[in-house]
Amino acid sequence: MPIIKDILLQFLFIIVPVLLFKSVWLDRSNLHKLDIKTSLVVLLSSVSVISCMSFPVQFGDDLQYDFRSIPIIITLLYAGYIPGILTIIVMIAFRLSLGGEGIVATIFSCIVYTSLTCLWVKRWYSYSFRKKMGVILLVGIVKQLSVMLGMLAVYLSNDLSTEEIYTHLRPIAEIGVLSLVVFGAITYLMEFIRESYIIRIQVERSEKLNLISELAASVAHEVRNPLTVVRGFVQLLGEETKPHKNEYIRLVLNELDRAEYIISDYLNLAKPQADSKSRLEITSVVGEVAALMASYAVMNGVEIVTNSREELFIYSNSAKVKQALMNLIKNGIEAMQQSGGVLFIKVERINEHIVIYIRDEGVGMSKEQIAQIGLPFYSTKEKGTGLGLMVSCRIIESMAGTVQIKSEQGKGTLVTIRLPAVP
Ligand code: ADP
Ligand code: MG
Repeated sequence: MPIIKDILLQFLFIIVPVLLFKSVWLDRSNLHKLDIKTSLVVLLSSVSVISCMSFPVQFGDDLQYDFRSIPIIITLLYAGYIPGILTIIVMIAFRLSLGGEGIVATIFSCIVYTSLTCLWVKRWYSYSFRKKMGVILLVGIVKQLSVMLGMLAVYLSNDLSTEEIYTHLRPIAEIGVLSLVVFGAITYLMEFIRESYIIRIQVERSEKLNLISELAASVAHEVRNPLTVVRGFVQLLGEETKPHKNEYIRLVLNELDRAEYIISDYLNLAKPQADSKSRLEITSVVGEVAALMASYAVMNGVEIVTNSREELFIYSNSAKVKQALMNLIKNGIEAMQQSGGVLFIKVERINEHIVIYIRDEGVGMSKEQIAQIGLPFYSTKEKGTGLGLMVSCRIIESMAGTVQIKSEQGKGTLVTIRLPAVP
């Protein structure tokens, strides 16, 4: 049973680097440059490839087989082009240093299975588990066929008889099936590790959110009480002042009510409760919010442009929607504080969704900044709270909607809100 020993060893060579440093594999977004992290991935997969090649599975006198293609394909898929290609270069360099025949066959099969793998590199992370397994199976089979084709070419050029070729290739085919199993197992493991990593990040995130919403709740609660008192007295005043001043009082009352709504919203963050929902005409709501924010925009040298007229409906709580929109519009205006510009707002219906676009021409955000979005207290502004976006996202998510942010530094930001439409 020396073969089993050899196979287990190969398995070990592949799995140890994965387990040893799982966190480097899991964030492909920062493996675009040649930095420490990328080098570490390349180092790990190269060690894996070189060990596989140095201690191959031996059978017969001169036949060997190894699983080097597995770390190469896994690196390509999970870490991206740069680490993948560097690993391939290391593999070929090592193969050249070993010498012997079959170098051309090695390079041939390597080109076949890596170029096939490249088809899926870009979208790999968006695939479901099943689809990934399907891709792995396909790549594994093609890889095996290309390896055997390469060997066949070598044997034919050596003038081996058909029988000899058969006795040579048969065990290669058998072990190829085994390598498929190993390939599947490694992919399963990668997925398993990735999933637990993602869950961990989510738990960390939600812990922070819990803390902040508790805090916000207690602050909001404290502010609400004096507000109620003020409202009561203003109302009393309204009953005794001259009629032309009544208008002011009405405004004050309205604004106080709105403040109270907002505070309730913060309270809702801590404890989501049933709120009164109704059928809302969203275009006019957006118009109202834009009008409300107009003076703030002018103060910052920004013009708000809305050009939607169509009547579109959602089912929601109007104060909440307004709050969410206000936060996002405010951010857009603030992003253009230095340069001025136009803030475009558009509402349209796309199939079953109402889509609201808020686009600014402001400072934009870097990749790192976008990653921080939605975390409480993340703010780049002197007087920022870092709460606005989080609150908006929460509100929209509670309405079964989504918020998508696209931003380019120096060019501007596009916020896309999607909400379920009602007829
Ligand atoms: P605040 O506005 O109080 O800073 P937010 O949660 O509203 O808090 O926003 C968090 C951060 O996200 C901001 O400080 C800013 O850096 C960034 N940001 C949000 N919206 C935009 C935008 N439209 N353009 C550029 N940066 C933005
Ligand atoms: Mg803000």
